[in-house]
Amino acid sequence: MSEQFKPSDLLFDKEHIWHPYTSMHDPLPVFPVKSANGVRLKLDNDTEIIDGMSSWWCAVHGYNHPVLNKAIQDQLQNMSHVMFGGITHQPAIDLAKLLIDLSPKNMEKVFFSDSGSVSVEVAMKMALQYWFTTGEKKKNKFLSIRSGYHGDTFNAMSVCDPVTGMHEIFKGVLPVNYFADSPKGGFHEAWNSSDFESMQNMLEKHHEELAAVILEPIVQGAGGMKFYHPQYLLELRRACDEYKVLLILDEIATGFGRTGKFFACEHANINPDIMCVGKAITGGYLSFAATLASKKIADGISEGSPGCFMHGPTFMGNPLACSVGVASLNLLLDSGWKEKVNAIEKQLITHLSKAKELKQVKDVRILGAIGVIEMNEPVKMASIQRQFVDHGVWVRPFGKLVYIMPPFVISEKDLTELCEALVKVVSLQ
Ligand SMILES: *Cc1c(COP(=O)(O)O)cnc(C)c1O
Repeated sequence: MSEQFKPSDLLFDKEHIWHPYTSMHDPLPVFPVKSANGVRLKLDNDTEIIDGMSSWWCAVHGYNHPVLNKAIQDQLQNMSHVMFGGITHQPAIDLAKLLIDLSPKNMEKVFFSDSGSVSVEVAMKMALQYWFTTGEKKKNKFLSIRSGYHGDTFNAMSVCDPVTGMHEIFKGVLPVNYFADSPKGGFHEAWNSSDFESMQNMLEKHHEELAAVILEPIVQGAGGMKFYHPQYLLELRRACDEYKVLLILDEIATGFGRTGKFFACEHANINPDIMCVGKAITGGYLSFAATLASKKIADGISEGSPGCFMHGPTFMGNPLACSVGVASLNLLLDSGWKEKVNAIEKQLITHLSKAKELKQVKDVRILGAIGVIEMNEPVKMASIQRQFVDHGVWVRPFGKLVYIMPPFVISEKDLTELCEALVKVVSLQ
């Protein structure tokens, strides 16, 4: 049961295994986790810590969920994988039906892929191929807003924030795209129309060479954890139509209830042309994503030459991922996700607002099941991570941002504990 990790294995890990965004010379410490259950991660010494991260937005139902476990086990008995070229299967059909039902009305066509970054590559490629086949070959650039994050592959990187998004390292090889200022006004503040000026100007100036605008609706995640005003999206939809530029919404982090709406674009009730979903799509069980498109996009691509969309990942439509995706979406719908997210939001407001008074803290913002404490100074990762674990919680900040997005199934008591630990540790910095 309580078998410990061998020190030699941990040393092996340190010397040979890359962890995200860390050096191989002097890697940040990693915490060995033995198992995860509900909202708790069990560490090497059998202490259990409360998960504040949902494993980067994914594990909305918590860990080791009996319904999701069963979906995977049942599918495993049937077929774990089969190629998608020339073959189809029930889990893919069921998942596509659900996605089409739950997404904005005009989203009718589904392309499955293996990760969020790939779904962004697919979306960008769709936009390009749409304009190429409809005879607008000049429309081959993208426009995004600053502080965005869309993944770590090359085209995705090229639309991430140009300052924090690795553009300097890959200068000369990264596709060059355009950036408008990100909206300054927050979600809950009064709308200020000057927030849209930069985007309006960029569209006016560059629309002839723009295939699409790509951005995260309402919540800018890994690029800054900022929440902006829904009116921005309404203005953007109008302007994209006016200038004949497609609109790609990256709902990879925001999708499936996290912001209080099933998809964040519902805060503004707009329809994208193309939309990316991932992360929570399988409830955190398997790497999977999808790119949804309107009939207009699919028709444009299919009517031209070569008459088909040129993409086909090996693990496209993986049946295990599709079946756990179906189970996860049904579980969300059946378990009253909205009430849960609303209750979490209320509790985050109650508990995290206290942090506003701390001298270390610049801002506290909450939307749906996302709570963000922005510090005045960047945190020291290795020491703050240790302190969180010592206080019984799992929180992984970046830069000045200490934030949580707990699994929706978290109890009131556990969330109180998580928030109190968060505020306490922040006060110690
Ligand atoms: C995480 C994320 C991605 C990339 O997804 P991966 O599965 O890590 O490739 C893209 N866009 C947004 C908004 C994300 O949060």
